[in-house]
Amino acid sequence: MIPSDFDYVAPTTVDEAVAALASAGEDAKVIAGGQSLMPVLRLRLAAPTMLVDLGRIDELRGVRDDGDALTIGAMTTYYGLLGNPLISKHALLLADATRTVADPQIRHRGTLGGGIAHADPAGDLCAPVLAMDATMTAAGPSGRRTIAAQDFFVDYFTTALQPDEILTEIRIPKHTDWAAHYEKFNRVAQAWSIVAVAATVDVDGGIIRQARVALTNMASVPVRARGVEEALIGQPASPESIRAAADRAAEGTSPITDGNADADYRSHLAKVLTRRAVATAIGA
Ligand SMILES: Cc1cc2nc3c(=O)[nH]c(=O)nc-3n(C[C@H](O)[C@H](O)[C@H](O)COP(=O)(O)OP(=O)(O)OC[C@H]3O[C@@H](n4cnc5c(N)ncnc54)[C@H](O)[C@@H]3O)c2cc1C
Repeated sequence: MIPSDFDYVAPTTVDEAVAALASAGEDAKVIAGGQSLMPVLRLRLAAPTMLVDLGRIDELRGVRDDGDALTIGAMTTYYGLLGNPLISKHALLLADATRTVADPQIRHRGTLGGGIAHADPAGDLCAPVLAMDATMTAAGPSGRRTIAAQDFFVDYFTTALQPDEILTEIRIPKHTDWAAHYEKFNRVAQAWSIVAVAATVDVDGGIIRQARVALTNMASVPVRARGVEEALIGQPASPESIRAAADRAAEGTSPITDGNADADYRSHLAKVLTRRAVATAIGA
């Protein structure tokens, strides 16, 4: 289907984009890589009267070393993340999850900011940013504010961003040289996650010193598996301790039943995939 008519602007600075969004009111929408928004427009599930294209704003692209954290511009594409050595050294979990997103064409167009702002519960970048305690920066008419990942994802396809705000940056504390793995379960290659697990762990002398685990598609928002983290810390990096910790993966989740899997099966998957994610990360 052809989308409904809309006006289009392509500003070159964040300030211009915020002003354009504010002037058009609630019927305006930001477009980043367009990989999720264009299908929505073509199906006429949304009919914004104005599209504010972020594609010409250079300041929204790239990865910056900020000392104890990496700051990633919202318009950095998945492809841009995968080719960046700072990401593989300090945020390996993000790289591992990014590799599983869709196909090369989509990874060339889709952006980290778009994937997060879209807040699809099956989206593969939301759990990794939650696991790594990322902070999002939003720019709006009253200036900039930061939102912790824990507070950013509010519900299905809903974030803490206001309609007149633009996600500008994602700040990820460095997890330098931590082991990491994103274990994704889907029916066919390049499909969305039925369930997935993002795990990154710091192992020293054979003991798990720190652990961060988050789940994709186990609730309306990505969920931190705090029970698993608690159970892993201080344990030997062995298959037995990983298995015991993974048994707590479904705690605090509220998975849906749909055509791909029922809630009980998703809970089972969360445990199996958590075990695989942690074991693969540390080679146990
Ligand atoms: C066939 C197909 C398969 C896919 N498979 C996967 C998959 O396996 N895993 C996965 O995670 N994703 C998958 N995707 C989605 C893909 O990752 C999208 O690129 C991503 O969800 C959105 O990124 P985008 O840059 O294209 O955003 P857009 O489509 O441009 O925007 C998406 C939404 O976010 C808003 N938005 C975007 N950027 C900002 C910003 N900076 N500030 C405020 N709001 C913003 C837009 O207004 C819109 O509502 C798939 C998409 C397709 C078409």
